Amino acid sequence: MSFEALGLHASIVKAVTDAGYTKPTPVQEQAVPAGIAGRDLLVSSQTGSGKTAAFMLPALHKLAAAEQSPAARTAAQEAQAARARGERPRFKAAQPKMLVLTPTRELALQVTTATEKYGTQIRRIRAVSILGGMPYPKQMQLLSRNPEILVATPGRLIDHMESGKIDFSQLEILVLDEADRMLDMGFIDDIEKIIAATPEGRQTMLFSATLDGMVGNMARRITKDPMVIQI
Ligand code: AMP
Repeated sequence: MSFEALGLHASIVKAVTDAGYTKPTPVQEQAVPAGIAGRDLLVSSQTGSGKTAAFMLPALHKLAAAEQSPAARTAAQEAQAARARGERPRFKAAQPKMLVLTPTRELALQVTTATEKYGTQIRRIRAVSILGGMPYPKQMQLLSRNPEILVATPGRLIDHMESGKIDFSQLEILVLDEADRMLDMGFIDDIEKIIAATPEGRQTMLFSATLDGMVGNMARRITKDPMVIQI
């Protein structure tokens, strides 16, 4: 099986080939076509299985195909014009298309780096990390560019959401990465609050070492007719 055969755009195939990948991993073989088709996914797989690309490649494929919304384009142009005039742009809530929740800062940064690698050929799509411990002014500056993709740890994201800096009404894709670890770390209430702010019609992909117990219950509640992939 090749990356082309999974149905990915040539630009994404080129990016992964340039990254030195010769063929999809087993989790990618199953998750990528289903993700492109818009299916919700529940995936039990370990770190090292290629899970980041398993959700990011279909997401980038879909986001690259979608037209940028006129509102997002205008916001980005206004902010750019204000900066060119040497003014601080008026802050409008960011309206991301995709959100990846991770348990730790380290994983969030890894996901953001991987996204940049896979999306090198897609100029329009930007990914930003929203992490605890990062200075607020820096995060506000990143959010003011209205990035298409946010990669975040739950606690800090809640702060920005509650202060009106992020609006999830345009969210199309939600990913919970290492969901079992997020629950172990006590993020359940934050996760529930974030999910409640996203549209019902979103696509949800959940990755976890296990799909039993508490994480399985949550997974079934937040997905619709999911494809279950056990690697
Ligand atoms: P992950 O499970 O997402 O943490 O990925 C583990 C490692 O595998 C990362 O260093 C990726 O860059 C790499 N990787 C992901 N997909 C592939 C692939 N299809 N071929 C070779 N390496 C890959």
